[in-house]
Amino acid sequence: MPEFIPVIKKDEIQHQISRIAETISTDYQGRELVLIGVLKGAFLFLADLVRQLTLAKVKIDFLQASSYGADTVSSESIVLKKDIDVDIRGKDVLVVEDIVDTGLTLAYLINHLEGFGPSSIKVCAMIDKRERRAAAVNVDYVCTTVENGFLVGYGLDYAEDYRNLPEIYHMKL
Ligand code: 5GP
Repeated sequence: MPEFIPVIKKDEIQHQISRIAETISTDYQGRELVLIGVLKGAFLFLADLVRQLTLAKVKIDFLQASSYGADTVSSESIVLKKDIDVDIRGKDVLVVEDIVDTGLTLAYLINHLEGFGPSSIKVCAMIDKRERRAAAVNVDYVCTTVENGFLVGYGLDYAEDYRNLPEIYHMKL
C-alpha cells in the first residue's frame, strides 16, 4: 500500500491562492487576461484561482501536453494532445500549471504559445518543484515551493487516481 504524507493542507492551498490572486489582479488591473490551464492537473487550481481574480475581463482555455518514454528528460518526448481555441494574438496570457518539475513541458508550451503572437506570456504554478529542473523557465507566480517528492491530490494524479483528494500529499510507494 502506498503511504500518503500530507504536504499542503486544504486551508493553506486556499490561502496561497488568495495571495497570488491578489497579486495577479493588481498586475493585470484594467487589462484583459487569457488564462490557459494545463490539463489535467491544473483543473482545480484554475477553478479556484479564477474565482478570486478581481479582473473585469478574463477568458479561459486549456492545453494538454503529454510526454512519452516515461523517464526521459527531453523536450523532444513531449507532444501536444489538445491545443487552444481562443485567439491569443495581441493578448496577455497567463499559463496555469499544476506543478513545474523539469520545466520541459512548460518550455515546450511557452514556445508553442509564442507562435500565436500574444503580447505577453507569464506563468503561474501551484507547485514549483526544484530538484530536477532542466529547462530555464521563469515561474512568475507560485503558491508553494518543494524540493522533491512525488505529489498527489488537488488535481495531481498517480495513474489517474487521487486527483480528487482535497489536499496535497507526498506519495511513497
Ligand atoms: P515537467 O515537464 O516540468 O518535468 O513536468 C510537468 C508535468 O509532470 C506536470 O504538469 C505534471 O503533470 C507531472 N508531474 C511532475 N511532478 C509531479 C508530481 O510530483 N506529481 C504528479 N502527480 N505529477 C507530476
